[in-house]
Amino acid sequence: MLTRFAPSPTGELHLGHAYSAVLAHETARAANGGFRIRIDDIDGSRSREEFVAASLADLDWLGIDRDGDPVRQSTHLGAYGAALDTLRARGLVYPCFCTRADIAASLAAPHGPSGAIYPGTCRSLSGAERERRLAGEPHCWRLDMARAVALAGDLTWEEAGQGLRIADPLAHGDVVLARKDAPASYHLASTLDDAAMGVTHVIRGADLVASTDVHRLLQALLGLPTPLYRHHALVCGPDGKRLAKRDAAASLASLRASGVDGRALAADLAAGRLPAGYSLQMP
Ligand code: GLU
Repeated sequence: MLTRFAPSPTGELHLGHAYSAVLAHETARAANGGFRIRIDDIDGSRSREEFVAASLADLDWLGIDRDGDPVRQSTHLGAYGAALDTLRARGLVYPCFCTRADIAASLAAPHGPSGAIYPGTCRSLSGAERERRLAGEPHCWRLDMARAVALAGDLTWEEAGQGLRIADPLAHGDVVLARKDAPASYHLASTLDDAAMGVTHVIRGADLVASTDVHRLLQALLGLPTPLYRHHALVCGPDGKRLAKRDAAASLASLRASGVDGRALAADLAAGRLPAGYSLQMP
C-alpha cells in the first residue's frame, strides 16, 4: 500500500488538510505501507516556496513521517507534455482559444460537477484555422470528451466502504488538460503522478470525488492503473462551512502558536475527534 498527501502550496495548511494527511498516513502505516508527500505546484502564479516549507513543518509538528523526499509536480512537466502528445496523436484533445469571458457569455454553458461545461466552440474549428491561431494566440488544450468516452467505454472505480462507483466523465464536458498558464491541469497532473508514484490508495476530501470521473477516464486512455479511492468528509468550521485557506483560526500555524500539541491533535483527528466548534461533514 502507498498513500500520499498532496498539498498545493498556495496558502497555509488548516485542520482540513491535517485531517486528510492524518487519514492517509494512518491508513498506510496501519498496513505497513508507504506514505509520500507530493507538492502540487504546477500553478506557478499562485504557488509560493514559503508555503512548501511551512506545510512540511506543519506535517512534522503533527508527527507525520514520510517516505523519501517530497515529490514536486513542477519537476514533472515533461511527463505531462508527453501524455498530452499521446492524446493529441490520437485526436483526443484540441486547442481552445476561448477566454473565460467568452465561455461565461455563452448561453449554452450549463454547470457540471466541476464548473461550467465548455460549450465546445473550438472543437469544430477547421484544421487550417487551428494552425493559424495556434501560431499566435494563447490557448489551452481540452479533452474531446465524447470521443474519449466512446473510446474508453464504461468505467468504474472502487470507493472504500461503498463498493463500485460508476464514473460519469461526460457530465464534465470537454475539460482542460493543459492550461494557458500551466503545462497541465490538475486532472492530468494528479492522475499521471498518482500512477508514476505507485499510489495504491488515493485518500482525499470528498470535494474531489467528482474529479475522479475524469481521472478514471484518463487512466483508461493512458493505460494507467486505477488506485482505490477514499473520499473523506470535510472539516467544517463553527459556521458550518468547510474550511478555506482564509480561515486563519484553523490554520495549523496558529494552532501551533497557541500551544496545541501537534501529535495529540493528529491522534484525535485519526479517531475522528475534532477541536471544539469543528465538525466533519460530507458535502
Ligand atoms: N492538490 C490538491 C489540493 O490541495 C489535492 C489533490 C489530490 O489529492 O488529488 O486540493
